[in-house]
Amino acid sequence: MPYKNPEEQRASSKRWYDKKKQNKEWVKKRNLKNREWEEKNKDYVKERAKKYRELHREKLIEQSHQYYLKNKKKINDYRNNLHKKIRIEALEKLAYDKQLKCVRCGCVSINVLQVNHKTIKTKEIVDERLLRGIINGERDVEDFEILCGVCNWLHFFENIGNDRWIIKWSGELEA
Ligand SMILES: [Zn+2]
Repeated sequence: MPYKNPEEQRASSKRWYDKKKQNKEWVKKRNLKNREWEEKNKDYVKERAKKYRELHREKLIEQSHQYYLKNKKKINDYRNNLHKKIRIEALEKLAYDKQLKCVRCGCVSINVLQVNHKTIKTKEIVDERLLRGIINGERDVEDFEILCGVCNWLHFFENIGNDRWIIKWSGELEA
């Protein structure tokens, strides 16, 4: 039965939907139907999403910011773990003898091992994109070496004339 005012109409639709929603089979079927329709109307769906994003830009930014604040630890842990995984994968590409260790002092503490440019003159930053380049073979591994963070700093200081340190790895791993 049609409703006179739109609010009643909305409430009625919601009641109908809430009831239907409890039927898992119905939900499954409906989702499948929706997916099929979206698959057939890809361009329209893409355009619709784009328009929605443009129209609700600020709201969406605020939403994702709120989501970040609420899930900060989870998101940061995920990012850190992913970065660590990528870093280790890149290090493995550079380890000719399959050993992950600093080529200078022999440090094997995985947490401090870094991908280092052999030539300091390059201004290129060792970021995730570069690490991925090493992993997928786009970058020449000859340009890089494994250094621990301490030796990496020394490498940097040597290039500006400060080289009066001897760095020694104790051979012990932290607990
Ligand atoms: Zn070192």
